[in-house]
Amino acid sequence: MTIDTSPATEAATAPAPAGASAAATAIAGASAAVPHPTARIGDRPVELVVLDMAGTTVRDDGLVERAFALAAERAGFAPEGEERERALDYVRETMGQSKIAVFRVLTGDEELAQRANAEFEGAYAELVGELGVSAIDGALETVRLLRASGVAVALTTGFAPSTRDALLDALGWHDLADVALAPAEAGRGRPHPDLPLTALLRTGAGSVGSMVVVGDTQSDIGSGLAAGAGLVVGVLTGTHDRAELEAAGAHAVIDSVADLPALLGLDEA
Ligand SMILES: [Mg+2]
Repeated sequence: MTIDTSPATEAATAPAPAGASAAATAIAGASAAVPHPTARIGDRPVELVVLDMAGTTVRDDGLVERAFALAAERAGFAPEGEERERALDYVRETMGQSKIAVFRVLTGDEELAQRANAEFEGAYAELVGELGVSAIDGALETVRLLRASGVAVALTTGFAPSTRDALLDALGWHDLADVALAPAEAGRGRPHPDLPLTALLRTGAGSVGSMVVVGDTQSDIGSGLAAGAGLVVGVLTGTHDRAELEAAGAHAVIDSVADLPALLGLDEA
């Protein structure tokens, strides 16, 4: 994927009337002549926001867990009864991590893990095709507002690149963010810092302190902290609850990614 560094100039419109909020102006795609507020972490301008996909910007609705169950059956390591419950608990606990890494632990066998991972990717794409997939309310607007404010945006996932692309296709999001990264393109998945750090390198952001990392799982939080992000934010639209995200060290927990602009001061005129 290429990095689009062109300014958001689509649908340039006349300057908004006095009194219109800066946020509304930005969402309307106003021209560069209209000054946008600056996203900030305290006094520091934000240069890059790294957003997780499933559970943070994309509705999950249990699709990942269902795909895991299908993959386990198809790959032939389907545990039953209590063992199955324990496996699903582990899947939930490690949500956000690289899927192949999770299968390695669950199967203890590289070949079986690879087969299960391939089955998982297939099952997830099938479920997305069958049931559809939709954005978290306000996610699209948040990304557009951030980019209109001069902030680079990266989408990150624990899926394989092909599944990431299937999601972006289904959502029509191929050009939404500056970059969209899967673990295979970054090195290690979460909770390692590779995804946010690769996003920083790819977008040319100046420092980890000017980076914000946002996710719905403890692995997202761990990844953001390990990368030294200036702000690590948990959201409550996915897998883990407030207590779990705070226990992982989130600097802030918000209801949804739709509340991110306000957290960064972008709702101020
Ligand atoms: Mg997630």
